[in-house]
Amino acid sequence: MGLFSKNREVGPVSVAGNELVCPVCGSRDFWQRETQLNTTGMTLLGLDWANVNSTNFVCDHCGYMFWFHPER
Ligand SMILES: [Zn+2]
Repeated sequence: MGLFSKNREVGPVSVAGNELVCPVCGSRDFWQRETQLNTTGMTLLGLDWANVNSTNFVCDHCGYMFWFHPER
C-alpha cells in the first residue's frame, strides 16, 4: 500500500452523523482519498458529466472502500 502511504491520516469517520464501521472486518479506522469520476469508462457510459471528485474512505485493516458521491 506504499502508493498512498504519505500524509495518510487514519481514524474514525462520520458521515451524515453516523460513524462508519467496516462491514467486512468491523474496523472503525479509515483513511481518505479522492477519486476523480470522469474516467474513460464513465465517458463510455455517458456519464462524462461527472467531472467531480468522489470521496473514498478505505478500511485500514482489510482495504474495503466506501465511495461517496459529492453533494450536487
Ligand atoms: Zn475492514
